[in-house]
Amino acid sequence: MAKKKPVRLKTGARYKTENRIPVNKAKWTGYGSYDVAPEYYSDQEFRCCDCDSNEIWTAQQQKYYYEGVRENIYATTMRCRKCRTYNEAVKEDQKRHMEKMVKEEPHLNEKYLKKNT
Ligand SMILES: [Zn+2]
Repeated sequence: MAKKKPVRLKTGARYKTENRIPVNKAKWTGYGSYDVAPEYYSDQEFRCCDCDSNEIWTAQQQKYYYEGVRENIYATTMRCRKCRTYNEAVKEDQKRHMEKMVKEEPHLNEKYLKKNT
């Protein structure tokens, strides 16, 4: 099982338990690279590229990312959950808007302009 030991984070004066979980090498594809799978995933600190906050990319999230979704091994997370959720909502909004636009009747001027060009 995961070995737990307290570790002090650089980001603040709070203590967290270090998270380590073993890599399932059968699921870790390596995406055709010659890299050898690591033994463990461990929590990583990162800075969100949108809001600049210091965040932790947990070992569990990494396992899901590389073994569940099978993301490229050279890809890492860039955004905190808050920014990711926000971006997903914006994209979802754009998608809904475009679907609505397709269903709508074109504006009268649009028909007129297309006829005369
Ligand atoms: Zn963020």
